[in-house]
Amino acid sequence: MRVAERRFVGRGAAPGLAEGPLFRLRPAGIERVARGDASAEAALLRAALATARDQLAELAAAGSDEAAGILSFQVALLEDPVLAEPALAAIATGEAADLAWKAAMAAEIAGYKAAEDEYFRARAADLADLCERVLGLLAGAGAGAGAAAPPPPGAILLAEDLPPSRFLAIDWSAGGGVALAAGSPSSHVAMLARARGVPMAVGFGTVPDEIAEAVPAMLDGGAGVLVIAARAATAEALRRAAGRRDARRAQAGRFLRLPAATADGVAVRVMVNVADPAELETLDVAMCDGIGLTRTEFLFHGSGGPPGEEAQYAAYARILAWASGRPVVLRTLDAGGDKPVPGLTAEGESNPFLGVRGIRLSLARPELFRVQLRAMARAAALGTVRVMLPMVSVPGELAAARAMLEHEIADLRRAGIACARPSLGIMVEVPAAALCAERFDADFYSIGSNDLTQYTMAAARDIAAVAALNDAANPAVLALVARTLEAGQARGVEVSLCGDAAGDPGLSGMLLRAGLRTLSMAPAAVAEVKQAIAAITLGAGARNAPPPPAAHPGAEPNRGGPP
Ligand code: PEP
Ligand code: MG
Repeated sequence: MRVAERRFVGRGAAPGLAEGPLFRLRPAGIERVARGDASAEAALLRAALATARDQLAELAAAGSDEAAGILSFQVALLEDPVLAEPALAAIATGEAADLAWKAAMAAEIAGYKAAEDEYFRARAADLADLCERVLGLLAGAGAGAGAAAPPPPGAILLAEDLPPSRFLAIDWSAGGGVALAAGSPSSHVAMLARARGVPMAVGFGTVPDEIAEAVPAMLDGGAGVLVIAARAATAEALRRAAGRRDARRAQAGRFLRLPAATADGVAVRVMVNVADPAELETLDVAMCDGIGLTRTEFLFHGSGGPPGEEAQYAAYARILAWASGRPVVLRTLDAGGDKPVPGLTAEGESNPFLGVRGIRLSLARPELFRVQLRAMARAAALGTVRVMLPMVSVPGELAAARAMLEHEIADLRRAGIACARPSLGIMVEVPAAALCAERFDADFYSIGSNDLTQYTMAAARDIAAVAALNDAANPAVLALVARTLEAGQARGVEVSLCGDAAGDPGLSGMLLRAGLRTLSMAPAAVAEVKQAIAAITLGAGARNAPPPPAAHPGAEPNRGGPP
């Protein structure tokens, strides 16, 4: 019987199309039977740690610079005597080496997983890898990770997560790809996959267990799509789309660091969207004119509850340091809708997209909102910060947020804490805000075309069956974009667009002709959008310079000290 076609959507982590049999990668089952006395167990653990160190150093020497850099993190951990201390202490009380090591590493891994910083959360996989390798050695299973059955050549690996050393132990010369139920595009293994050209997608959630192994699969690592038992037409469409993307990417690379301008010389500001500051580590700031959207939700996903002011300030400071003087738009928490935050967003709403999300949630939880506003005002003393409010529907929401921001700035100044007044703008993603944009006392507008499209077209952004209706190029959506631009012009403030439409090179001409001159997009889209812009001729009537980004009256920096 032919297996029915199934499609799973995750997040792209390493571009390219892989086709091959599906292979479920399971953790190596490691059982240890014999046990010795405390000194023998301690000696065993020390020997296993030394061997693991040698194995990893060898693997690093044989691999690329990228691999060496990543594995050296594990080697450095192993060389630090502090790592083994809790396990050795447990062994001294009579615990077996493997159980002591497993428990000590579980605590260490949980600490990394709970970190507020995504960078450290992503390193949890490296520690888990290390833990398994040493357990394998204690059980006499050789290379630890190598104890599991190797995947067939060219297979698409399906796993919960994948440690870097296991990725490196696989022969990718026959092709293949990686689909992870968990994982992150900023993990070490994703960096390795990009460097090796192995397509990878992450964040599929649970892929049902009943999907048989060896069934033919296709993985589009750029789009983050996994298709099982693709029909001929689906397979062809995936191949064509991936082929087009590969060709475009190859040609577009030379535009990456050039300033964006149309064929007839109209300058366009190209900014990047950031959902996770760890992404910035591998990016050259010269590719963009600043950060047009920071999705600060990443701060709220740790298991330790909402982040405090210091943690938020540190994260924003890191982003500003990367931007090196370029403007940075920090969006306040946009939880809810398609971005639920457990413990924070309302449960059981009949329609979360129309419920307590974005600014509505922030105003409903002033104790949390104030902390975020304080951290942002403090970050504003370090560079050009624009604070942006999501899901604004009525002017009163902006007015309430502005009053809270002012209150926190006054409080910081009284306490002698360095801060500055950032400009305060709104996302235009609710049709009500677009239609009445001039009534908002906003220092800037940024069109969120993802939500603006779904609310205008009454077609959810995450329901495939209405994807054709969810079209940012629909004249109804464009009318709201035009309406917002008119309001921006009338009030002398900048209008930008930061939804996915900004990163679609096929829409660049339409957006520039509508009057937009600032587009903010995923970093991966920058080169192709700049290339598309360079091919556009706008004509004489379109040469007006965009209005300068306006600051709210009185938005001068206050670099510290009481007034
Ligand atoms: C949008 O809605 O277009 C947008 C940029 O915000 P998000 O995708 O985070 O909802
Ligand atoms: Mg939105």
